[in-house]
Amino acid sequence: MNSSGPRFRFAPSPTGYFHVGGARTALFNWALATSTGGTFVLRIEDTDEARNRPEWTDGILSALEWLGIDSSSPTFEGPYFQSSYADEHLRAADRLFENGYAYYCEMSPDDIAQRAKAEGVTGYNGWSRDLGLEPGPGRVLRFKVPEGSTIVRDQVRGDVEFDHSVIEDFVLVRSNGTPVFNLANVVDDMSMGITNVIRAEEHLPNTPKQQMIWTALDREPPVWGHVPVLVNEQRKKLSKRRDKVALEQYRDEGILSDAMVNYLMTLGWSAGDDREILPWDEITSLFALGDVNLSPAFFDVKKLAAFNGEYIRMMSEDEFAAACDPWLPDDWDRATFAAIAPHVQPRLVTFSEVSGVVDFIFNGVEYDEASWDKVMTTDVAAPLLDESILRYSAVDNWQADNLKAILEHIMEPFGLKLGKAQAPVRVAVTGRTVGPPLFESLEVIGQSETLSRLRHARGRIST
Ligand code: GLU
Repeated sequence: MNSSGPRFRFAPSPTGYFHVGGARTALFNWALATSTGGTFVLRIEDTDEARNRPEWTDGILSALEWLGIDSSSPTFEGPYFQSSYADEHLRAADRLFENGYAYYCEMSPDDIAQRAKAEGVTGYNGWSRDLGLEPGPGRVLRFKVPEGSTIVRDQVRGDVEFDHSVIEDFVLVRSNGTPVFNLANVVDDMSMGITNVIRAEEHLPNTPKQQMIWTALDREPPVWGHVPVLVNEQRKKLSKRRDKVALEQYRDEGILSDAMVNYLMTLGWSAGDDREILPWDEITSLFALGDVNLSPAFFDVKKLAAFNGEYIRMMSEDEFAAACDPWLPDDWDRATFAAIAPHVQPRLVTFSEVSGVVDFIFNGVEYDEASWDKVMTTDVAAPLLDESILRYSAVDNWQADNLKAILEHIMEPFGLKLGKAQAPVRVAVTGRTVGPPLFESLEVIGQSETLSRLRHARGRIST
């Protein structure tokens, strides 16, 4: 165990796809562990047997690697699995009982509901506190919440005070003998020497309870930091039913990990100037929890896409072609793709789109009917195509610049701007009105194939 620097941790539960909010929490911890010369401990909180699945744990591990949270780095420690420490959790529970910080209670949830109703109170009112019950089947262990209040010192939110009058004597060990989250989480943090707990805001209500357990076990609580939640466009908390929240999904759509990391780190935090695109080293050297915005952060999928576009444009041509490779069908000729790739790179947003952008080069033309109707039903379409076929047949220098100059010459008598004049050629050759730059595409497709497509389209126009 590296005990020289601060010890951060990330403690996900493997109960579903890896959430982008979890990714952000992990990155905040990783950035701080890195910049402080500390340690990032990964603890998988796998105690919910009904909801855990080994593939979710694998998903967490691979997602962290994808984010650059490198398990082979000296900063990284773990993974530890919470389920291995149940005995330790229960030993701590015994200590709390023996030292008078906790007591057994045999009231069932129904008993509690009935008594609360009869007495006109809400929740459990410490009814078994002074009964002196010993451990036994069907009994839960409850923490004896003292009078007063707890102040949580939070690096994001400042001091937050919780009045104990609104915290009931909470359960530490269930009637079936299993420890609850608050106990297991604290005992693990203690035994793993955690000094800084940085996690999602939704855990803030747990924190006074956890801090009471730390104190009752005679230990200094860690430094806390609760980071605001991520919300969608309607300012609602991101939810897996409503929103696209799985990190894997973005990865599988071709968002680059560097773009995702940069975007997540600058959600609710900024480097203090206008720059948003920042290399990881700079992010880590500047990142501070005190600068994280207190309001919920809008996870803007469009902005993420824009970040991805920026990162795509920062790649060299070779890097870009290599990054596209897994997204292309195996039988597409890579040299042909390399010829068009530099013209795709400036416009691409996610890699999953790449094959759809250039498929007309490899698969032949398939007309998009809306594009056809818009462009090929105009009066100029047929004469323009006739002229193009005539002039392009005579070309012996099949190069983009030359092909452009020829079309500019053709369009003069029609009084059209280039955009309008190239539309019929584009639809004839690519099938649609939008796509990579036209003349570069024609160059890659080649003279005979271009002419054959132009003739075919011309034949399809009835006039
Ligand atoms: N296992 C908890 C969760 O996934 C996190 C606990 C914590 O960070 O303290 O929500």
